[in-house]
Amino acid sequence: MDFLRLLTRLGMVAVMLVLLAARPALADNHSVATHAPACHTATGLKTGLDAMRPRGGWTCDDSGWRSDVPAVWLRFEAASWQNGELPRHFFSRTARFKSITFHAIDTDGAVRSLKLTEADGQPFAAGPVFQLPLPKITPETTTLIARIEAPHSVPLLTEARVTRDPGLADWSPIDMMLLAFVAGMLVLPLLFDISFYVVLRERFVVLHAAMVTAMMTYVLTAGGLAAAFVTLPVAVMAVVGPLAWAIGVGISALFLANFLERAAQSWTMRQITITTGWFTMIVPGFFALQLDAAQRFDDVGYFITFMPAIIVISAAVIEAMARGSRSARFLAIAWAPIIIASVERLLRGLGSHVGPSSHDQMLYVAVGIEVVVISLAIADRFLALRRERDAALTEAKMLEQISARDSLTGLMNRRAIEARFDELLKQGFDTFALVDLDRFKTINDVHGHQVGDAALIACASAIRASGDRDAVAVRLGGEEFVVLLRGPRPLERAEALRQAIPMRIAKEVPGLDMPVTASMGVVMLADADASKMVFAEFYARADALMYEAKASGRNRLCYERLTVFRSAPEGRRVEEEQAA
Ligand code: GH3
Ligand code: MG
Ligand code: MG
Repeated sequence: MDFLRLLTRLGMVAVMLVLLAARPALADNHSVATHAPACHTATGLKTGLDAMRPRGGWTCDDSGWRSDVPAVWLRFEAASWQNGELPRHFFSRTARFKSITFHAIDTDGAVRSLKLTEADGQPFAAGPVFQLPLPKITPETTTLIARIEAPHSVPLLTEARVTRDPGLADWSPIDMMLLAFVAGMLVLPLLFDISFYVVLRERFVVLHAAMVTAMMTYVLTAGGLAAAFVTLPVAVMAVVGPLAWAIGVGISALFLANFLERAAQSWTMRQITITTGWFTMIVPGFFALQLDAAQRFDDVGYFITFMPAIIVISAAVIEAMARGSRSARFLAIAWAPIIIASVERLLRGLGSHVGPSSHDQMLYVAVGIEVVVISLAIADRFLALRRERDAALTEAKMLEQISARDSLTGLMNRRAIEARFDELLKQGFDTFALVDLDRFKTINDVHGHQVGDAALIACASAIRASGDRDAVAVRLGGEEFVVLLRGPRPLERAEALRQAIPMRIAKEVPGLDMPVTASMGVVMLADADASKMVFAEFYARADALMYEAKASGRNRLCYERLTVFRSAPEGRRVEEEQAA
């Protein structure tokens, strides 16, 4: 619950940041005199200038803006610039269009016209804007009429301005710094993603990186920051930003479907989310291209087809939260500011209200918040997954240990020694001492299995030689053990262990009427090539020696020293040496 409260507070901070970013945007940044059109109207392609000269038929307030028309006319009145300097440039928010024709009309009715195309547009040094030169405006000029053919967006019309010096009408350095800050903030999560992926190999990390890249592209191009570094044609500047946004939002939906815990989403919601992700990349992605053939509907189309993403992403997060998802709480905080800001952008894009393009900064800040909060969510998941993985590893290790140990004595079992035998040989364990208790069956018969078990445990303690890194004790099964030895005097050490067995059993298992002795069969590799020996071979040889020890009276040690001549022509010759 504390966690929820913390998240709520974080969310409030995020909303405040968005509002803070919006504050400078609410005030018009352009300190230099810029002049908005007094009136606007839309017509077909055939309507000429003469029909537009009268003042009737124009809309002279901020209503009725549309871009899904063949041509839009803007009317700038000399009254607005009479005190200032005469305008020389037109500028507006970057979007695609076919042509813009300017008509400067003087008091005496003279008209100077200039027709320019999209290719003539020059992006500014900064800001999502482009400029065009105007025909000569004189003190005699009363009206400037601009005819925009095939406009692809409403802000291209609503944010059209004329000015004497567009260079000074850029966004303020603070706006650009904010943008640069957001863009910089996005680099860090990319680095996080790379390092998470190295450890996690989860698909959602890749999707997050793709999402961040798309968002960064959006901020750099739609925000106009890219224009500070490279000069791109208006068509490119106009397309890349909206396209990156469509792809970024589409990938966000795919990320959501992959990132949420399986139990946090219903099958249906998951399918809808994935479908919406692809739909958003493809359909709004197509409209973002602003192709000529789509001019009549791409503007509205772009914004309308974003609706499913906004609705489905919100619904999926709400569903996951209702199902108690931890990740969904992060996502709710990450996406709330972006949803608020993009709905504003969406309504503005549709012409429901007019605002300066600097309103977009809300969206840029929201993008920054989103990416950072989602990185936190991934970090949180990372920790959770690592905890799970560590627990699984510990369990696996435990199981491995259990399966490698004999449950009665705790010694290594036959399975384990066979698996590790090669390794132990390489580590120099070249003496194989097989141990078998003498007449053990009698102990069981006389005293019962429990006493027999106690004797086996005591025997294990005697041969364990704990702390001795040069001896490895194994229970092969029943009352049969093996001690592997390395280092000097293996025979003496083996014999000492063998003699320790009856003493240890007598001490730990009281009430036995006679000592429990042990016999040993010891195989030593002298200068033989250990890498050619296998466990079964040692065992068979040691067993033969054991048989001898038993046959010759028990409670004794038989051994052989193996010498293998590697240069031997036929396999290997074995020299045997035995002693009782
Ligand atoms: P020998 O001197 O010839 O080795 O005589 P032995 O009686 O020890 O003969 P053998 O090795 O054939 O007998 C093994 C006996 O060990 C048989 C079984 O009763 C006993 N035994 C095997 N495993 C266990 C065990 O886990 N617990 C107990 N209590 N007894 C076991
Ligand atoms: Mg025995
Ligand atoms: Mg036996």
